[in-house]
Amino acid sequence: MNFADLGLSDELLRAVTEAGYTEPTPIQASAIPPVLMMRDLIGIAQTGTGKTAGFVLPMIDILAHGRSRARMPRSLILEPTRELAAQVAENFEKYGKYHKLSMALLIGGVSMGDQIKALEKGVDVLIATPGRLMDLFSRGNILLTGCNLLVIDEADRMLDMGFIPDIEEICTKLPKQRQTLLFSATMPPPIKKLADKFLENPKTIEV
Ligand code: AMP
Repeated sequence: MNFADLGLSDELLRAVTEAGYTEPTPIQASAIPPVLMMRDLIGIAQTGTGKTAGFVLPMIDILAHGRSRARMPRSLILEPTRELAAQVAENFEKYGKYHKLSMALLIGGVSMGDQIKALEKGVDVLIATPGRLMDLFSRGNILLTGCNLLVIDEADRMLDMGFIPDIEEICTKLPKQRQTLLFSATMPPPIKKLADKFLENPKTIEV
């Protein structure tokens, strides 16, 4: 399997080559085509399998083909920790260097002022931890009605950290018509339930 066989744009193929990757990892090979086809997806995969690029690469192409309405965020990636959120943001910058997508990193421990300024300018991608996202939302700083692409990453860690009620609430603020991707290393019953409730006819892949 080759990156060029997955349906990614030339700009992304160039960024991937420059990242030093010669071939897609198994999760990338099986996740990228259905995500590009706008399917909902459950990816059962650990960190270290290359799953971040498995969702960031197709997201960049999907977002590059669409247009934002009224500067509202168009996609949301939820991460359980600040560190993971920051890593995903770095991945977005690395793979998206030939695209003009804007992003805001919404995590605790840094000033809300800069995050609010970024939101006011308009962003394509929000990368957030649930707590800070809920804080900004309840203060009226974010509208999620334009977010029709959602990634719930590390869902089993979210469960361990008690974030499932927040995630359920966040899901209800997004449009019903959307694409949802859920990644988890394991599928305990509460995560299965979350997926049944918020994903539609998902393709499941396991590596
Ligand atoms: P992740 O599982 O997303 O945290 O990725 C684990 C590591 O694998 C990261 O350091 C990536 O830079 C690297 N990586 C991702 N995709 C590939 C690939 N196709 N070939 C080689 N390394 C990769």
